[in-house]
Amino acid sequence: MTRLAPVLDAAAPRRPSFGTGPTLALDLGGTYLRTAVVDADGTVLARRHVPTPVAQGADDVVARCLATLRDTLAEHAAAGGEDPLALGISAPGPLDPRRGVLIDPPNLGPTFRDFPLAPRLSQGLDMPAVLERDTHVAALAEGRFGAAVGLTDYLYLTVSTGLGGAVVTGGRLMTGPDGMAGELGHMTVDMNGLECGCGALGHLERYASGSGIARSAREALAAGRDAPILEAIARSISPRPLEGVHVAAAEDAGDPLAGELMELSRQAFAAAMISFVDVFDPQRIIVGGGAAAGQGERLLGPARDAVARLAFRAQAARVDIVPAALGDDVGLIGTVPLVAMALPLTT
Ligand SMILES: [Zn+2]
Repeated sequence: MTRLAPVLDAAAPRRPSFGTGPTLALDLGGTYLRTAVVDADGTVLARRHVPTPVAQGADDVVARCLATLRDTLAEHAAAGGEDPLALGISAPGPLDPRRGVLIDPPNLGPTFRDFPLAPRLSQGLDMPAVLERDTHVAALAEGRFGAAVGLTDYLYLTVSTGLGGAVVTGGRLMTGPDGMAGELGHMTVDMNGLECGCGALGHLERYASGSGIARSAREALAAGRDAPILEAIARSISPRPLEGVHVAAAEDAGDPLAGELMELSRQAFAAAMISFVDVFDPQRIIVGGGAAAGQGERLLGPARDAVARLAFRAQAARVDIVPAALGDDVGLIGTVPLVAMALPLTT
């Protein structure tokens, strides 16, 4: 079994060395897994996109990953492509990048608890492998190829079903001793607020993520709140539960409860941005994820205004808050800097 030096190792190079050749990429999500070979310049080749057989458990998911990665390698080789240096893996947290182990990823189920994903894939492919949290991989991708090129200090947030984050400071990921720092969705925006999925009170994710907004909507409907449009949507999709996207659609159609919840989500997001600017002094905040893309300037505009009014003056004058640049390929493309940072120093 071969595995790359962990990215977070103190001995790892401070800045990645680029131009080292293509990587084999795996973006493991709870619904789909994506694979590709990604050239050192970020070009995505031989891509594949198949359902993740989560219900069948971790061993079957690994088998599907290996089969899909082998198909990807075969297609790349048949086209005359250069052999990839290593496998880079983007997966949901929490995970331990040093050991390549998934710890307790909520969207992949209990069979993935303490699961040695990187060692298993490395062994199966006879190739070095490195694992990182999806938001960290996305932050690396935006830094190398996207909205944070040339920056040393930036935050990356993804607003979708959950609300994840990453902090890059002084040119490297802020990791903490466990490799788990930067969970920006668990910033408190109301210390007496609603209970977050993590158990704590008043976290940003509870107010501004798709799952948090949907939970508030379901609870309000169950409590008999007046929401004719949202109720009609809930009936039309039953037995599927309401999701954040339905609440956003109900707001657009004029539903008062949906409007209230979406406005609360934007206010929570803006409040957190003020703290992020004051605490981290980032040059830029990059916001990705499906829910953020759906809201666009409706989400980012009020956040910019709040930062301009209420954050510390010097930081507020410098920072900008922008949409992510790389879209759905971010988990594949980010394996290029991920693998480059994990390679042993050769100089
Ligand atoms: Zn939380």
